[in-house]
Amino acid sequence: MTAWDTEVDVAVVGGGACGVMTALRAARDPGRLVAVFEKSTREGCNAAISSGSLAAGGTRWQAAAGIEDSPKQHADDILRASGDEEWRPVVEALCAAAADLVEWIADTGYPIELGTDMPRAGMTARRLHTDTGRLGGARLMRHLRAVLETHDNVAFVDEAPVVNLVSHEGRAVGVVVSQNGSLQRVKADAVVLASDGFANAPALVEEHLPHLGTPFYGGVSTSTGDALAWALRLGGQLRNMGAGLRSGLVVVGHGTRVSPALPFNGAVLVNRDGERFVDEESKGYSSMAGVLRHQPGERAAMVWDATAMAATRESEMMRECLAAGAIQDRPTIEALAGSLSLTTAATERALTPLPGRRSLTAPYHFAWVTHGLLTTQGGLVIDPSGRVLNAEGEPIPGLYAGGGTACGLAGPHSDGYLSGNGLLSAFGMGWIIGDALAAVPA
Ligand SMILES: Cc1cc2nc3c(=O)[nH]c(=O)nc-3n(C[C@H](O)[C@H](O)[C@H](O)COP(=O)(O)OP(=O)(O)OC[C@H]3O[C@@H](n4cnc5c(N)ncnc54)[C@H](O)[C@@H]3O)c2cc1C
Repeated sequence: MTAWDTEVDVAVVGGGACGVMTALRAARDPGRLVAVFEKSTREGCNAAISSGSLAAGGTRWQAAAGIEDSPKQHADDILRASGDEEWRPVVEALCAAAADLVEWIADTGYPIELGTDMPRAGMTARRLHTDTGRLGGARLMRHLRAVLETHDNVAFVDEAPVVNLVSHEGRAVGVVVSQNGSLQRVKADAVVLASDGFANAPALVEEHLPHLGTPFYGGVSTSTGDALAWALRLGGQLRNMGAGLRSGLVVVGHGTRVSPALPFNGAVLVNRDGERFVDEESKGYSSMAGVLRHQPGERAAMVWDATAMAATRESEMMRECLAAGAIQDRPTIEALAGSLSLTTAATERALTPLPGRRSLTAPYHFAWVTHGLLTTQGGLVIDPSGRVLNAEGEPIPGLYAGGGTACGLAGPHSDGYLSGNGLLSAFGMGWIIGDALAAVPA
């Protein structure tokens, strides 16, 4: 083998949610030297453009709010949505870590609250946690990277994409990093693949997700699935590659998303033919994307009123929509009907509340929404400790994966994605892997 340029204990590929959490937990062990190689924080990670909603069951905020929940209830909800019982051990391991990790993030000085106003389809308890200002994932990632900087035994190397995995006799032994135009060979006892999925790799999307059609792409440019081929070469396996985190809340012509809480506050979806084609509360936003794809023009008007607006406007999504001018206002049903190219009678019919739901009242707000792809959910087969497994189900020595690089929690279809699954996979597996690599008590 050619010589190494440098040597660390843990090499983390990707400095997003999973990579940063892995490093934070591993670095608690002062005897561990950890390097995080990040393709480009300027391009960004999905965690930083996410809403930053953290799903966890059994937290102190839930207890304070009198909400009964537990890691088991959380795992059961995820598995009911995904139908992927085979993945239960991984799901349970992540849900078991979730409350601890969210509380730990708060204890590092991050202002967290329970989103009691954040209902989601498929969730049997309010369990999304968010920052108190509702500023989203950018704030969270800035905070966690700042905490990482306080560790002397961590190097966060930016603008340094990993371009290859180095192996020896079936074991991952290092990575090749491109930095300032030259290639560096970095030896490592453990390599953690935390570079997210492949939603911005057109050939892979065409191969695995052709059924999504041509969705709006709402993720970052760096999700090019780099790590998958390296792990496959070492015997890694892929799973649930046809699943994605989709969104049926993307505003046409803007790319911003309206709040997923709108349907729970009375918002109605009407297609271009004036049909109310779905019970808006019955589907998560990933699942709703598939429904929208099959509407005329692959879109529908989401209509809501002042009450729904008041309940949702403080989310980062609604603030972005308002700032972008993505939400239109109409004073009367006649004006709304004109904008939807429908008759007033057809519009009134479409807005008739479903049984048990409230009526919308003028003035109205609306946005044309369509389907988008945010991240992929298929990826490497791992065990509940984040070790990458080969075809025999044996761990590949020295190789770990988490977040979007590993198989996610949606099951085989995008419809199985439950809100909060993405960051749970990423932070949760980072927590588990980092703890395992630190030879100190958790
Ligand atoms: C718009 C949007 C909103 C979302 N909202 C939520 C939410 O509220 N709650 C939730 O749970 N999930 C949400 N998600 C999903 C969530 O953001 C992702 O599932 C999560 O960020 C995945 O974490 P990760 O660490 O795998 O990847 P990321 O956070 O994307 O980090 C991966 C990092 O790896 C880097 N990288 C890639 N290739 C290489 C390479 N070759 N070498 C070095 N570095 C590399 C990237 O630059 C990036 O920084 C949202 C996603 C999007 C797009």
